[in-house]
Amino acid sequence: MRAKRRAFAYLDANAEAFRRLSDAIFCFGELGMQEHRSAELMCALLAEHGFEVERNPSGFATGFVATTGTGRPVIAIHTEYDANPTNSQRSGVAERSEIVEGAPGHCEGHNVNAAAMVAAAIALAGIMRAEGLPGRLKIVGAPAEEQLVSRPYFVRDGYFDEVDVALHPHILDRFDSEHGLIQCAAMSVDFVFHGQPAHASAAPWDGRDALDALVLMDVALAQHREHMRPGLSMHRVVTAGGDQPNVIPARTSAWWYFRGPTAESVAPLFEQARKCAEGACLMTGCTFETRIRAGVWPVLLDRTVARVIHDNIAEIGMPEWTAAEQDFARRLQKAAGKGKDGLKPAITPFKGPAAQIMASNDCGDVSWKVPMGRVWFPANVPNLPFHHWAAGAALCTPIAHKGGLAGAKALAGTVIDYLCHPALLEQTKASFAEATAGVRYVPLIELDQAPPADLNRETMERFRPAMEAHYRPERPQFGSLA
Ligand SMILES: [Zn+2]
Repeated sequence: MRAKRRAFAYLDANAEAFRRLSDAIFCFGELGMQEHRSAELMCALLAEHGFEVERNPSGFATGFVATTGTGRPVIAIHTEYDANPTNSQRSGVAERSEIVEGAPGHCEGHNVNAAAMVAAAIALAGIMRAEGLPGRLKIVGAPAEEQLVSRPYFVRDGYFDEVDVALHPHILDRFDSEHGLIQCAAMSVDFVFHGQPAHASAAPWDGRDALDALVLMDVALAQHREHMRPGLSMHRVVTAGGDQPNVIPARTSAWWYFRGPTAESVAPLFEQARKCAEGACLMTGCTFETRIRAGVWPVLLDRTVARVIHDNIAEIGMPEWTAAEQDFARRLQKAAGKGKDGLKPAITPFKGPAAQIMASNDCGDVSWKVPMGRVWFPANVPNLPFHHWAAGAALCTPIAHKGGLAGAKALAGTVIDYLCHPALLEQTKASFAEATAGVRYVPLIELDQAPPADLNRETMERFRPAMEAHYRPERPQFGSLA
């Protein structure tokens, strides 16, 4: 198809702009809710290429919704661009080597997700105008995926109401598109305990110990784990445990995640945790409150969309890896203590429904609102665990650039298919109706909940000055369509 050929050729011709964009966001290394530079750069590029850009959707300062085109269908592409704490890692180096000691950094590849989305968007905007294709393209920048934050708000607030199909590009070690229920629902909740301070030695009888309450809740939930159904899990960290030993803590807090295969399976876990907190407060004379930080549905990938994406992947093919790229991948695998089988040589064949894994992504909510597909693009090294330094070491190398560009092509090809073939949309609506029959989507976040604007602010402000010295000076320049 001519439109597709033109889009792929445009992306190949703009590989240098892709590289600069992906590397720039890598160097920003911004934590969730603090992705200011990343969002600014993407919005500026999208605006330059004719998109109408809305900033601050649902109150997310680092989110955006950029739209181009008119009429139907409406196809959305959404992705994340946040980094992780303490994972600053030099790219192209097969050993642990921090850019800035202790700083945040990309160690999964959300920088490449962002570049794939924006490059595909710019290519598509040009092609839609040049070829007179009908429909609208909506590009959604989704902050703070690592803490499961933004997309439930966007769905709640209507940003996906008119969308016909949504696409989510995500980096992986293979070129693939899956379908079925692939990730879990999760709730992220703070439990805050309030007691009464007192001198811990001179007058402990005057105190009510908020740390005792926290510990007793923790013990109660540890006992409860034995009675949970398979597939459910919960985990926590203590975020405040008191100030010093001779003061009975008046305030403590724990941050809990509750996970399960369905949205309905998670609420009873949260309820059980509340009961345990109540019991702990009864025993200690303390009180508690809960604050929902985030709540996400499991990720459901539509069968028809997956097929359309996969047909494009088959057409594009796996990038050809050079001997140097394979050698770097093997050295990195060795340094991480993993299997040294290098980069995958071929695309992954289309398979039956995927197995559900015990991780979550805030895009789950989108996938129950509209049919959603995921482009897994091959821009990182196999066998490396995400959030490990090694998963950051290939992110500004040709492995990331070639794999990310292939991902951008898969996105562009899929959007063109949906814009040009109305029958595909009908098939997609049918498979989505079948997969979601009997399920009513209700967000797990509160209806009046505001985004956690201060999340990660302090950490980012502390490290940004030192990180700025490593920002890339060259700005990405995407050309106009030939
Ligand atoms: Zn991710």
